[in-house]
Formats: sequence, C-alpha cells, structure tokens
Amino acid sequence: LPPLASDARIGRLDASSFSRYAGATKFDQLPISKKTKDGLREAKYKKMTDIQRASLPHSLCGRDVLGAAKTGSGKTLAFIIPVLEKLYRERWSPEDGVGSIIISPTRELAGQLFDVLRVVGRHHGFSAGLLIGGRRDVDLEKQSVNELNVLVCTPGRLLQHMDETPNFDCSQLQVLVLDEADRILDVGFKKALNAIISQLPKQRQTMLFSATQTKSVQDLARLSLKDPEYLSVHEES
Ligand code: ADP
Ligand code: MG
Repeated sequence: LPPLASDARIGRLDASSFSRYAGATKFDQLPISKKTKDGLREAKYKKMTDIQRASLPHSLCGRDVLGAAKTGSGKTLAFIIPVLEKLYRERWSPEDGVGSIIISPTRELAGQLFDVLRVVGRHHGFSAGLLIGGRRDVDLEKQSVNELNVLVCTPGRLLQHMDETPNFDCSQLQVLVLDEADRILDVGFKKALNAIISQLPKQRQTMLFSATQTKSVQDLARLSLKDPEYLSVHEES
C-alpha cells in the first residue's frame, strides 16, 4: 500500500484513503506514523485482530466509533493507536496540554491500558498520566495534570480534578475514549459522566469500546456523537 503523501497536519484522512486502507490486515499497512509502527513492532504486534481491522480505518479518519467485541479481542490498541496518531498529526507537544482523555471504569483496567499506551507510544514525545485515585496523592497530581497530553482516568478522579484543580484545562481536547463504555454509561457513573461531558468541548472525536454494543439513543446524544460507525465483531465458530 502506498504511504501517505504527508504525515503532517492531516486532521482527517479523506474518503479515498479510507477505502485504500479498509482491507489492511497488518499494522504495517496502515497510514500511521513510524513512531507508532516501531512501538507496535517492538511489542510484537504484527497482525491486527478483527476489531482492530474493522475499526482502525474509520477511527484513523477521525470518525466517531462505537466498537463492540468480546473481552480479550484487542480493543485497547483499537483506541490507543488513533489517539497517538491524532496527536501526532496535530503535532501535539507537552505544552499543548490535554489532547486526549481515556476513561476506564476501574483503576485496574485503567492501569493496564496505561501500560499499553506507554509501550506502544514510547517513541512519541507525549506526556501521559494515570489519574485513578486510591493511594495516589491528588495534590501532587494537581501540579502536573495540566502538562499531560493523554489522561487515562477513572470517572471519579477525573471529575475531582475538573472540580478542584486550579486552571484544569481540557478545552483543546481532540479525542475522548470510553473503554468498557457500557459500564461507564451505566447508572452508577451517570452523574459523574454527565458532569465530565458538560465540561468537554463538543468538537472532538469520540470512541466507545465495550463487550456489548451501546445502542441507547439517549447515551449517544449525551456524548454528542457525530454520525458514528457501529462496529460489532462476533466470533465465527
Ligand atoms: P480487550 O480490551 O478487548 O479485552 P485487550 O486490548 O486487553 O482486549 O487485549 C487482549 C490481549 O490481546 C492482550 O494481551 C493484548 O496484548 C493482545 N493483543 C491485542 N491486540 C493484539 C494483536 N494485534 N496481536 C497480538 N496480540 C494482541
Ligand atoms: Mg479492554
């Protein structure tokens, strides 16, 4: 497959590049940066899983995506790669502040996906932080949170920073991800999530991934999704 004409400042790939990459089976065939490709290769990721193959051509075009695939199907890379690529294309740097927020329902899952982000994104110069509460000192976090480009967080801790951290600024947010979206959209997080969403710019890319497809029209309206792609991958057996 031919490389992209220019890796720089292409906020959205156009429709023709989408069709060109729709049949890709390996990460190397995707129109992504060398930095990301190197990170993937070093972590021994070569072939895409089904949900990655189905979603990446869309998400890399900047589209909103609702991805459903069972646990263990590789949903983490399906959103980490487009997050890295969006910031890369926008030439994001630490002083640009928060460019992406990835929300996870539990501290443990947030920690796991933060590790994947660190491994695959290690050649990029972005700063990333894990904001999950617990034993971590929130006052220490408050001093550095505005210098982070990617926030990996639980809803409660993110909201705490929105409420308490002076000058907390996510007005430049490019990409919002809800991992295990069905759990985050559940009643237990409803208030926190609404409060978070109300403080985020509406002009952004939003990706939802979970084991089951989120079809609640109310939820989708709440998240201001724009013409989202519904991608469900089920095992053929
Ligand atoms: P999910 O979020 O869908 O439950 P994960 O993203 O946690 O799945 O991935 C499950 C496992 O599959 C992890 O161990 C991950 O490293 C591995 N994995 C993900 N994508 C690939 C891939 N393209 N090739 C090989 N292994 C992969
Ligand atoms: Mg997962």
